[in-house]
Amino acid sequence: MIITRAETILVSIPFKAGGIPPWSFGGDPKCNFDTLLIRLETDSGLVGWGEAFSRNEDHALKTMIDTRVLPLVVGRDAASIASLKFDLEFQLHNFGRIGPIMYGISGVDIALWDLLGKATDRPLVELLGGPFAEELTVYASLLRYGEPNEVARITREAIERGYRQIKLHEVSLPVIEAAVAAAGQDASVMLDTNCPWSVEQALYHDRVLEPLGLTWLEEPVWPPENYKGLAEVRAAGRHRIAAGENAGSLYDFVAMMDAKAIDIAQPDVAKTGGVSELVKIAALCDAMGVEYVPHCALFGPGQVATLHLNAAHRGVPLFERLYCDFEAELYGNATLPIAGKVKVPRGAGLGLDPDPDVVERYRVL
Ligand SMILES: [Mg+2]
Repeated sequence: MIITRAETILVSIPFKAGGIPPWSFGGDPKCNFDTLLIRLETDSGLVGWGEAFSRNEDHALKTMIDTRVLPLVVGRDAASIASLKFDLEFQLHNFGRIGPIMYGISGVDIALWDLLGKATDRPLVELLGGPFAEELTVYASLLRYGEPNEVARITREAIERGYRQIKLHEVSLPVIEAAVAAAGQDASVMLDTNCPWSVEQALYHDRVLEPLGLTWLEEPVWPPENYKGLAEVRAAGRHRIAAGENAGSLYDFVAMMDAKAIDIAQPDVAKTGGVSELVKIAALCDAMGVEYVPHCALFGPGQVATLHLNAAHRGVPLFERLYCDFEAELYGNATLPIAGKVKVPRGAGLGLDPDPDVVERYRVL
């Protein structure tokens, strides 16, 4: 099964989320999320789909993957996943072990697993030794609203839609308190702050947030690789600490655990080395007694791969879905949660291919 063609397709789909455009990622804030698709074609006629993490119509990221990563993939045997991934990592390690190059390698790895499943007519979850579950409990990962009434309204809306676990992306105490009060006894609440604070500031917030009974506190310390600082917050013992979406590989999780920085590991399949790397990270978590809950702010093949990965792990981690309604879905209704649950696809490989009409309509590059 030789790869004859490799390409990326950048898709950007508008969504409704209430309130203001949530995150700018350094550019103009928009109510759009990108999916950077990686499409691998083989001489067997099979096509595999992967996804590299992307936001805000990132043309530079697409060009980087097109010109640095994909030329190394064409002509290779798609079934030799580990050796192909090793060669990509080794040949490109000077260009960064975390970030764009690794996003591209992650996307290629997902597409290779999709191809392996299609070639063997087995769903990815079975190739990974599962399933432990046919469907997953989804947590509503709210966007940032920054305003108490709006966050309370959205929290109630998510509960009415059937979610019983809610994650906030807020940093202001009154806003966080409003959401926790709105959730009441109906949902547990996690807090993701996205690395805003010094260690001293994080320790202060860790203390004042304690009475709220948050399920976990995610990435309270700047910068994300400040594992020693994170460990100081964790050592205070007031919250379970979650992190890992900004890691590049298994070795970053080894470093986090060596530092005693985390209770919950959150690798992202489209950032942290793909399916192959998450399987290794899951095994490390099991051996080290750290909870494994993959990060997922993805809406393409990375999202689908995460469904399979979660269902293939004995802990059956909660599945993260950003709480926003898209104008169109790449997979129709197949990945949309119903009453806070989502089914694991049972077709070969990822079990779902992106809808070509949606891809064409929302393609930006
Ligand atoms: Mg996060």
